[in-house]
Amino acid sequence: MTGMTVAEALRDAAVRLAAGSDTARLDAEVLMGHALGCGRSDMVLRHMRDAAPEGFGALVERRMRHEPVAYIVGEQEFFGLSLRVTPDTLIPRGDSETIVEAALSAVPASGPVPARVLDCGTGTGALLLAVLSARPGARGIGIDRSPGALLVAADNAARLGLSDRGAMLLRDWTQAGWADGLGLFDLVLANPPYVEVDANLAPDVRAFEPAGALFAGPDGLDDYRILLPQLPGLLTPDGVAVIEIGHTQAEAVTAIAMEAGMAAQLHLDLAGRPRALALSRQSGGAG
Ligand code: GLN
Repeated sequence: MTGMTVAEALRDAAVRLAAGSDTARLDAEVLMGHALGCGRSDMVLRHMRDAAPEGFGALVERRMRHEPVAYIVGEQEFFGLSLRVTPDTLIPRGDSETIVEAALSAVPASGPVPARVLDCGTGTGALLLAVLSARPGARGIGIDRSPGALLVAADNAARLGLSDRGAMLLRDWTQAGWADGLGLFDLVLANPPYVEVDANLAPDVRAFEPAGALFAGPDGLDDYRILLPQLPGLLTPDGVAVIEIGHTQAEAVTAIAMEAGMAAQLHLDLAGRPRALALSRQSGGAG
């Protein structure tokens, strides 16, 4: 890309990336901002006529091989928070903000007792840290079975000044006794693995994101079958669990929740697709 201005290199990269990405221009701008060490708006306002930086071409090459932009630049915005991401963590999706919205509607902004929050499979810490940042009275725990992800989650908590209210613990909900000593929670969050093992996934996802955060058996429901029956034992009597689901899974996961003695309320994502279930104990039931 030597000899090109930033504007020219962006045009050139957007054309080359268009074959493999439907956000080619945006990808090029984010990568250029990273190469320049400035934000996208600063780049557009001040740097378009500068010489394109040396390292930009290599970043575009990585993207051409389907590496997600978030891994190349090492960060992703989620619910207005800038989060560090690595290949040890799933990249937080805009769709998952639906879980945060549903959770915040379940946890009053002020209350007599600060809410206790548990995030199962916290990854980058996205769900937990978004809720804690929006609810300054709340405290929480993020668990993950991936030590690499936990390091990222703890780092994100520290960067956001939330370490004193958000602890990250190495736990695996498929192992008996994993929740011993954690107590009860007003809110449980989870974006568990829910993809069918042989699903037709984009190469950006299948070749780069952690399999352990994505796949959950032939029908994608293995983790719901293990985790949901444990929720009544983790929730306070009025507690709510808000869990992410695949957009075709609302019926199947609702059935698993009902079998575990919980009622499910469906929440849609911004595209109007099923994305979250808010689960609570069935009131008036025998227990
Ligand atoms: N939403 C992700 C995807 O479609 C899957 C996330 C998950 O399994 N929890 O790639």
